[in-house]
Amino acid sequence: MSTSLIAMGVAAFMVINLVVGLAALSLLFGTFETLFGKPKINLLKSSKSGNVFAFGFKWNSAKEPAALDTIRLRLFNPFGTPTQVEVSKPFETKKSSFAVEVDMGPGLIELLGAKGFDHATMQIEVVSSKDGVVFQFDMKGSKFKKLVFDANQTIAEYIAQNKLDVKKTSKSPIDIPVRSFIADTVPGRGPALKMATNPVFAGEFAGASGSAAGAAVAAGPAAENFKIAKVWIEPGCIVCNACEDIYKDVFEVLADTCIIRPNAPLDDGLRMQEAAEACPVEVIKYTIAS
Ligand code: SF4
Repeated sequence: MSTSLIAMGVAAFMVINLVVGLAALSLLFGTFETLFGKPKINLLKSSKSGNVFAFGFKWNSAKEPAALDTIRLRLFNPFGTPTQVEVSKPFETKKSSFAVEVDMGPGLIELLGAKGFDHATMQIEVVSSKDGVVFQFDMKGSKFKKLVFDANQTIAEYIAQNKLDVKKTSKSPIDIPVRSFIADTVPGRGPALKMATNPVFAGEFAGASGSAAGAAVAAGPAAENFKIAKVWIEPGCIVCNACEDIYKDVFEVLADTCIIRPNAPLDDGLRMQEAAEACPVEVIKYTIAS
């Protein structure tokens, strides 16, 4: 066997060893982090401005099982004004590592605007109201502010980076009743609200009063369609999928919220109204084109 062949064999052997070694190390450290890593919170970039607080939270849910459902921000500001601010809001229950954004209301602005904030102490608590578990993180106000304003990783990026299985980890804290008023698929439209004012079902309400005249009263005249100027989702979506079931071209339900698809059609106001009326938490808002 020639010397060059032996050299190539040795080089290939070393390369394979290197690759296997690196893979084993990354697996080892990933597992180590999962099993023994401390709970960790990351402040994330929120999709909306204002009072919305976005964060990702990782913990070993096998070792410390908890159904986390509340975020609490506390400011201890003994040398400033106000001396204490606390803002607490619920979110969809999470049983393993997750990322969410929560509308904290005007309290967040009051907290960030406190005089002496930079020297105050901020406490972030991720809480399970049912299990009494609290994960607490303390930091200086200046550090908190920097983390909030410098956050540039989105929730989607955090979920992808940490390979979070968002479907398995979520359970809504609100029991959503089965909406029997959502009808079976209407040909060419998908599911729709079964109600008298929906022209698709106008005929079905005819029998309610037992006469043709009564039918007109029950169903009313078929509503005229209209165009939408703008549609948006306010904070508080509980990802129930109702809007997407009704108007898939407009609404896209993500892991933690619902968004309006880019270039969503705005020419079917009746259907938009139907989706808004089906939203159990009434966060779908729209304005009618003039
Ligand atoms: S219907 Fe409302 S709560 Fe349900 S996914 Fe749509 S926006 Fe969210």
